[in-house]
Amino acid sequence: MKIGVLALQGAFAEHICVLERLGVKAVAVRRAEELDALSGLIIPGGESTTMLKLAGIYHLDEKLKALSAKGFPIWGTCAGAILLAGEVGNTNPNMPAGLGLMKIVVRRNAFGRQVDSFEDKLKVPALGEAPFPAVFIRAPLIESAEPPAEVLARLGNGAIVAVRQDNLLATSFHPELGLDDRFHCYFLKMAEAYQAYR
Ligand code: GLN
Repeated sequence: MKIGVLALQGAFAEHICVLERLGVKAVAVRRAEELDALSGLIIPGGESTTMLKLAGIYHLDEKLKALSAKGFPIWGTCAGAILLAGEVGNTNPNMPAGLGLMKIVVRRNAFGRQVDSFEDKLKVPALGEAPFPAVFIRAPLIESAEPPAEVLARLGNGAIVAVRQDNLLATSFHPELGLDDRFHCYFLKMAEAYQAYR
């Protein structure tokens, strides 16, 4: 099984490290044709406007939409979650349209600026009892999620920070920056299921 990490910009190297630590073959993806050999793709954190512009230039956006419709697993972390969202509440006129794949509405930079970055321990029933340490860096808030999107985790104040919708996963934080690999393992199960069915 081979998992891709979109490597146009942002924190792709860290995701590749975690996948390799888990013994999974991981590849940096920059071209649409590189998606064909994969069982899943992680879209990392970074700058969503830049990633969207580059994804458009390299025709990765069209290809990802077509693959997603066939059940291809895609996980967006932070800026990656913005790319997957059906609606970005506070977009600006220069921002290219996202992939629009998930029934979620997100608001960019909802927790403040870089200096307002924080860490929290999340209850994530899908990952088991132990709280998950989550790092938020200029994170988007998931303002709402509608079926078939299901909420996997919230902050103590009720803010949605992780959502699954069939073959799609969105987390507004950075699971690749800690040593807890359970979100990566969760995504790998989605990829294994896709690979078995493909
Ligand atoms: N603020 C960034 C954006 O809106 C996301 C930050 C991140 O991915 N850590 O694209």
